[in-house]
Amino acid sequence: MGHTKHTLRMCPVRPPVRMTVQSGGLFYFPSSRILNCLRQKKVQNSLLGFAISFFKYYAIVWSYCMTDNVSKIKDRLDVVDVLSGYMKLQKAGINFKGRCPFHNEKTPSFFVSPERQIWHCFGCQKGGDMFEFVKEIESVEFPEALKILADKAGIELEQFQSRPGEKSVDAKQKLFEICELATKFFEKQFQSSSGKEALAYLHDRGLTDTTITEFRLGWAPNDWESLSNYLQTRGYQEKEIIDAGLGINRQPTTNNQQRSGIYDRFRSRIMFPIFEVTGQVVGFTARTFTPVGVKSGQPGLAKTGETMAKYINTPQTLIYDKSRVLYGLSKAKLDIKKSDRCILVEGNMDALMSFQAGVRNVVASSGTALTPTHLRLLQRYTKNLGFCFDTDQAGTMATRRGIGLALAQQFDISILEIKDPECKDPADYVKKYPAGASTSGASGPSWADVVASAKPVIDYYFDRARSFYNPTSAESKKQIISAVAPFIKRLAGNVERAHWVAQLSSLLRVPESAISADIATFKDDLDAYTREAIASDTPITGQAVVPREAPDVINELILSLVLKAPAILRDEVLDIPDGLVDDRIMNIIREVVKEPFDFKTFVIRFSGEEALQLEFAHLRSQELWQDFDDETLKIEFHNVINSARRRLINARLTNLQFDVKEAETNKDKNRLVQLTGEFNELARQLILTHHPYASKEKNKIRQSADVQEEENTQEANAVYQSPEENQINFPQTEDEAGI
Ligand SMILES: [Zn+2]
Repeated sequence: MGHTKHTLRMCPVRPPVRMTVQSGGLFYFPSSRILNCLRQKKVQNSLLGFAISFFKYYAIVWSYCMTDNVSKIKDRLDVVDVLSGYMKLQKAGINFKGRCPFHNEKTPSFFVSPERQIWHCFGCQKGGDMFEFVKEIESVEFPEALKILADKAGIELEQFQSRPGEKSVDAKQKLFEICELATKFFEKQFQSSSGKEALAYLHDRGLTDTTITEFRLGWAPNDWESLSNYLQTRGYQEKEIIDAGLGINRQPTTNNQQRSGIYDRFRSRIMFPIFEVTGQVVGFTARTFTPVGVKSGQPGLAKTGETMAKYINTPQTLIYDKSRVLYGLSKAKLDIKKSDRCILVEGNMDALMSFQAGVRNVVASSGTALTPTHLRLLQRYTKNLGFCFDTDQAGTMATRRGIGLALAQQFDISILEIKDPECKDPADYVKKYPAGASTSGASGPSWADVVASAKPVIDYYFDRARSFYNPTSAESKKQIISAVAPFIKRLAGNVERAHWVAQLSSLLRVPESAISADIATFKDDLDAYTREAIASDTPITGQAVVPREAPDVINELILSLVLKAPAILRDEVLDIPDGLVDDRIMNIIREVVKEPFDFKTFVIRFSGEEALQLEFAHLRSQELWQDFDDETLKIEFHNVINSARRRLINARLTNLQFDVKEAETNKDKNRLVQLTGEFNELARQLILTHHPYASKEKNKIRQSADVQEEENTQEANAVYQSPEENQINFPQTEDEAGI
């Protein structure tokens, strides 16, 4: 396999985007040198000018390469095929539809247009091309999406082969390669005699070959140099092997002066590769295993005086940071997204056994303490966490800390309880109670049942405290309150808080007021974790999730109706009063109603977000209005315009309420009278918007009804009752107004 040598650098033009450049080749960019010069202010104007034009040139070359790759990929792949790899799609007329993978729904509102090569969900409003889909579903940024799709399309992203013998490959890329090679090496070692014993041990723990292969477990033989030697024969330097965390420098000792070089970090251990989100191996967790016939002190095992930790991890490297990687996430992410929940376990074996038992939305903190960065990583996929840690004391502390951190990041938390005292962790439990028929004779809820019956965090601590302490002594009462107070304090809803205060009151036989006072002044053990979470609030490199501005459904509906029947709605469009419809949309629909209209030639005039918005509206027009006759389309248009009117009036009414409050504070009686008048006028207009355009003859399944419904609720919640009722809210007498 020929090596393609490339460097990944932060693009100087679009800093969050990493770019592929080949060192020494056409695209070599001495960014650090130029920037250093600029920093040291040693540059003449002419050099600055040169630098700027260089940046510009670079930007053009970069965007050319990217655009070129994107269009190549789009030429080779079909949006329907790409999406079908992740979800079920059904042909529906000229388009395809399916249940949206990004929000929960029973009836499909996710549409794919093979003709336009786009997808759009009418429910959650997400949409775009195949790149947007991969970014969204894999929770990756553009460069990773590009890589995934390029692989699918069989396109090599790197366009320039390196010259033979060239050495300067980006350091990170080298480490990825070394970790991948090491993984393959460890996988192969299962075939050795000691490896077979390790494999038998894993089988005995309950792992199947499928799981072992899928997670690429392996065996590091009991030898000081086997991996290092192998990697060196593959052309890697000692320093690189050390940098990858796989080799350790020999320290010269008095009786062993002549031996220099490196030795293997992992010896006589079962290897669990750790994958980053995109699936690349970045490090390892390694568990000791001593095959029969090997005594400690023999070559591969511990040096004299060195203790053998049960589990060791790759140390921090350029590509591995234990506070940023969760074991199993690369395999679990889609299931986490689908189920909108993540099960957090402690050990790798727990995650593997859970995965094997069909509960695949599971990740492990892999023996390291859960960090705020771990949680921010999970936040991309779900806001619901199910904690399941060991029940021993350390496990309880870890759970408490993890919960504190997760609460600080607004996760909804539940706790999984393993009720069999013989099973200390999920791995034990899954082995003892396998899904389906029980082979071990043990009968009890399956692991999936345990996961499904997780308790909300307060319920868990409340039940626990109740069973631990006898609520009669003053000390016990204090313990019970301290177990649940931090959670009750953090509840957003008053009703829920009142519920728990009442529960505690009846359990402890203490008045609710006293409980509330105690909770309010309780010294909070979880606060420390909140501070920890805030203190370490550094973004995950290159992965900042920028929420897209929520598109406006009403404006999109108007656009889609006009796209469906430009000629029929021409007069209506020209009648739309100023300020009712978004200016950009208004300009577009004025163009659309000019004869003649053809979507394909029309959309070419637009680019970026604007073009995408048109595509979405076009898809909506195909799907929503396909069987509508002219008259019904007019009725729909009238309804949507009225929705827009109501929204505008409601916004004004909300403002008016603030004006009223202000006038009340200033005791401005005249202003109050004037505002009351305005209020009544707006309320009258609001009623008019409910007048039907014509009798509603057809009651089709209209998704626009959702918009209507949402609005009605908003109205009910906001202002509109009736003009008379509204007046009652206003101060009627001088006394009431405080004048
Ligand atoms: Zn959706």
